[in-house]
Amino acid sequence: MMPLLPGATIGVLGGGQLGRMMALAARRMGYRVVVLDPSARCPTAPVADGVVVGALDDLAAAKHLAAQVDVITLDTEHVPADLLEALEPIAPVRPGAKVLRTIQDRLVQKQFLDALGLPQATWAPADDLEAALAKVGRPAILKVRRAGYDGKGQARVEPGVDPAAALATLRGEPAVAEALVRFAREVSVVLARGMGGEIRIYPIAENVHRRHVLHTTRAPAPMPATQRARAEGIAVTIAEALEHVGVLAVEMFELPDGQLLVNELAPRTRNSGHYTYGACATSQFEQHVRAVCGLPLGDPRALTGAVMVNLIGDLWRAGPPAWAAVLARPEARLHLYGKDAPAPGRKMGHVLLLDDDTDRALATAEQLIAQLEPT
Ligand code: AMP
Repeated sequence: MMPLLPGATIGVLGGGQLGRMMALAARRMGYRVVVLDPSARCPTAPVADGVVVGALDDLAAAKHLAAQVDVITLDTEHVPADLLEALEPIAPVRPGAKVLRTIQDRLVQKQFLDALGLPQATWAPADDLEAALAKVGRPAILKVRRAGYDGKGQARVEPGVDPAAALATLRGEPAVAEALVRFAREVSVVLARGMGGEIRIYPIAENVHRRHVLHTTRAPAPMPATQRARAEGIAVTIAEALEHVGVLAVEMFELPDGQLLVNELAPRTRNSGHYTYGACATSQFEQHVRAVCGLPLGDPRALTGAVMVNLIGDLWRAGPPAWAAVLARPEARLHLYGKDAPAPGRKMGHVLLLDDDTDRALATAEQLIAQLEPT
């Protein structure tokens, strides 16, 4: 397979902030980018060479994009696998339909992880709710099988409450039940797998969520080398079993006894890998472009420690936040995604703090967020 060299055109399905940062990396390298998104005003549009407006399940629109590009990739896994399959005769799709089919349905994903013998929270299909809860216990978390993210499409079942009420909040969507995990922390492994099967792994990150949305990422996560090797081994096993091409993010729970449970897979760049854009020799966005174009992968090494803090729409309650405090800090990098409608819980941007002392950077992150809160 000949690599697609700069000058080639990359089609991106989904024009959110991940597509935007991928497009910026691709264009820096001399590629052209065409994006498919339901909105002509999506975050990727202003930095793309072309925009096809259409829903992510609109086959005619996707074929229109496919006809203009040399390779197709995505910024979300919520693109129907059947649609990807229909595009494959027109342009190569990386990652392919098989990867999406495994990942985009939580039930299939969990069966896949079980088949690999990888550890995850006790789970069961929620079709028979009583049987599922008998298996996973309470508290449990119900999660819709498809299209959930940032805690959307999730409901907790506490002991002593009617589980049917929790299930009803998911509006009849097929769901899985999972045991609530009392984790010590959440960590993620972001890696890239190239066309020839080579793998490059980024330093492991430690993530803190607030109200189900990622709040901070610290990298490298303080972690003994043996534990790091175990986490990396799990992520590599998954990437190879999927025959994935591109960036893959594997989110894990670390238990107090050190056990690692796989929580979630993303076959693309991810919020918990944003630190790589600024802190690593090759960002996850450039790495994804390299992988899907069949180029050699770049160096994933961290050049500095880093902490990322997400900027959520709530900070915009009284208008755009006052950025002076962020801009005044030499170690801070401000990223705004160009979204024109701040909404509570919506990811609007992030701040990256470059500092080898990541404890200090975490404290600075909290201080900056407090300063950005409307008074
Ligand atoms: P998810 O969309 O599955 O990644 O869930 C979002 C966040 O909810 C996770 O990063 C955890 O912080 C929390 N969460 C999800 N599943 C569980 C679980 N089984 N036990 C405890 N916390 C969970």
